[in-house]
Amino acid sequence: MKELENVIIYADAQKCIGCHSCELACAVAHGGKGGLIGAVINKQPLHPRIKVVEADGVIMPMQCRQCENAPCAMVCPTGACRQENGQVMIVESNCVGCKLCVMVCPFGAITVRRDSFKDDGSSTNQGVALKCDLCTSWCAENNKKDTACVEACPTKAISLIKMHEYRTALLKARAKELAQSHKHMNMTLRKL
Ligand code: SF4
Ligand code: SF4
Repeated sequence: MKELENVIIYADAQKCIGCHSCELACAVAHGGKGGLIGAVINKQPLHPRIKVVEADGVIMPMQCRQCENAPCAMVCPTGACRQENGQVMIVESNCVGCKLCVMVCPFGAITVRRDSFKDDGSSTNQGVALKCDLCTSWCAENNKKDTACVEACPTKAISLIKMHEYRTALLKARAKELAQSHKHMNMTLRKL
């Protein structure tokens, strides 16, 4: 049966300690075969698709929400940014690096990589858009169920969730609270 809702990465600010392990794991998972050591040796920049953000004392990993009506996919003039198989993905060979997707994403979840630098430091401008791809290739290649960021987080602040499961957990938590409060109220009323 076709899934009615897609999977997204859920981040819990209460559990995040700001260690940036998720960023590093994401960059390594998308950084080619050499891994972290290969990137350091070859002086390749790392490009995480998740970003730990601190604002008003709250630390929170931010990444693509895999929007259902994805504005990034709507504005992309080349069809590089598109919705497929329950996620919003970038077909890098079609991307011209115009950054329209960057401008419309409400979460700041897209960057345009611009790492084709010449020896003199100038850029060849061969940029492509990068965003969370739910580690689809990495999971398939490494036989993993969780994304690299989820796997790397030491406090389990990040998880892969289906919204109906999240909603069910919320419903149960609130139902439990309401039941407790009704019980307490009934006991108080009986004593009056
Ligand atoms: S990149 Fe931004 S706009 Fe596009 S699906 Fe993800 S969160 Fe939504
Ligand atoms: S940067 Fe690439 S993916 Fe984003 S809107 Fe432009 S062509 Fe599409």
